[in-house]
Amino acid sequence: MLYSELVKIYQELERTTKRLKKTDIIADFIKNINEKELKNVIYLLEGRVFPEWDERKIGFSTRLIIKALSQCSGRSAKEIENIWSKKGDLGIVAETVLEKRAQSTLTKRKLDAEEVIRNIRKLSELEGKGTVARKLSYITELLFNSNAVEAKYIVKTILEELRVGTASGIMRDSIAKAFNQDVRNVEKTGDLLVDYGEVALLSKENKLKDISLKPGRPLKLMLALLAKDIPETFENLGKLLVCEEKLDGFRLEIHKYNGNIRLFTRNMEDVTKQFPDIVDAVKKNVDGKNFIIDCEAVGFNNKTRRYMPFQNISQRIKRKYDIDNIIKELPIELNIFDIIFYNDTNLMDETLRERRALLEKIVHQIPRKIVLTKRLVTDSLEKAEEFYKKCLNEGLEGIMIKNLESIYRPGRYVNGWMKLKNILEPVDAVIVGAIYGNGKRAKWLSSYVIACQSEGKFLDIGKVSTGVKEKTEGLTYKKLTELLKPLIIEQKGKEVIVKPKIIIEVGYEEIQKSPSYSSGFALRFPKFLGLRYDKPLNEISDINLIKKIYNSQRGKK
Ligand code: AMP
Repeated sequence: MLYSELVKIYQELERTTKRLKKTDIIADFIKNINEKELKNVIYLLEGRVFPEWDERKIGFSTRLIIKALSQCSGRSAKEIENIWSKKGDLGIVAETVLEKRAQSTLTKRKLDAEEVIRNIRKLSELEGKGTVARKLSYITELLFNSNAVEAKYIVKTILEELRVGTASGIMRDSIAKAFNQDVRNVEKTGDLLVDYGEVALLSKENKLKDISLKPGRPLKLMLALLAKDIPETFENLGKLLVCEEKLDGFRLEIHKYNGNIRLFTRNMEDVTKQFPDIVDAVKKNVDGKNFIIDCEAVGFNNKTRRYMPFQNISQRIKRKYDIDNIIKELPIELNIFDIIFYNDTNLMDETLRERRALLEKIVHQIPRKIVLTKRLVTDSLEKAEEFYKKCLNEGLEGIMIKNLESIYRPGRYVNGWMKLKNILEPVDAVIVGAIYGNGKRAKWLSSYVIACQSEGKFLDIGKVSTGVKEKTEGLTYKKLTELLKPLIIEQKGKEVIVKPKIIIEVGYEEIQKSPSYSSGFALRFPKFLGLRYDKPLNEISDINLIKKIYNSQRGKK
């Protein structure tokens, strides 16, 4: 398929904000695409070159894009940077500078979509010395052969900034419509495979039903809705409930297959190497030929044996060296609360009652190493309240309340799980802008504009600067500045706009209505709690959660 055909669709999608219209545009477009090309076309429509579960990164900097544009347009890098600072978007810069280049149509051929995806993929394979020139050549090859509008979308795809509104819900609906499939089946397969390219192909071939869950590849996990109080959980989840401790660690999806154990975060990042202690504990203490278990890894203080908050152990997720020492310094207890697959059998349609019973049989518990999450099964409101209070007294962040008869369904669902916390739920926000400080902070970005999400868009909810450290320990202004600088898209005076990538956890005292921010809300007294490396961008707090907290906070204070 010619890349220009895809570009036409990008433009049509950009012209509308209506969900149904977008669904129709995509469905009409993909229904006649042949089996060979379909997968890649879906990825490109989503603005990616690899499936969602695949961890490979394109890794091409804005600096290199400028270099490539300079080579293809004959303009100096400085000139291009100037245009960038005015336009604020490198895709548009590409369009602008390539529109005006002296064209020699003789050397140009028409770009194929396959070639675009192939060249961009190659960028992730190259590593080490001398690869920059080769990377550049893959991109200049594309840019030389593209027209100005094509260049715009190529650049956006390389920078993973193509946002034409193809969030996964729209892709799901489009695939169902194009290939006449039940939306539920499309979604279910999407949750298992985390790959809409593959889902589209299976839908076209009418093979959605053949798909089975297999350990080794991360899947989407079940999440909880926020509850206001215990009575609300009984109203929503039934008469007999499971109350579980809600521990403040990080989620781990643990897969065993062919004698291997692999660990994935909620972000589907493979962190097996960082946690040999957990691998060992699972190997020795969980029976079974193959399985997928769902757990919370929680840090505890070696001396007091008390649990520690996530932020104290978060560095373990990234740490790739000196692992033996950090295991001793920051030990972890694995709390297992669910099992999704066991000995070649998918357990997603079994009830929590059955899944937990299986866990009780196969896990050999060792306190402060590997345990099943503590819980209470009850039909009494009073007993549930008591359990909640006891957990809070022990310093836990709250409880999870689960429907005993619920099946395992990825995502957030009414009738599945709820969470209850005594504090106002911290917000997971993405940094979209930052401001350089004054005086001795002048060299650092020291105030951060944060945003929540709404249907794939980012809406501002405030500025945070409290909670970041001036010096050494913890997360400093210096470190945050280093993280943000390569992401700068535009700078005006002291203010910069950055690519939404760095996710932070933010505490606050209250949520207020505010016309100053695009979300319509502002966090009052926001405080930086830490980085959330483990969360994917599409799981940052949603505007509906902000509204829910806003509505519930009066009862909490
Ligand atoms: P939140 O991140 O506030 O939306 O809360 C959901 C997270 O709580 C999950 O992703 C888990 O990491 C964590 N969690 C802690 N304890 C449990 C539990 N017993 N069951 C499920 N999730 C839990």
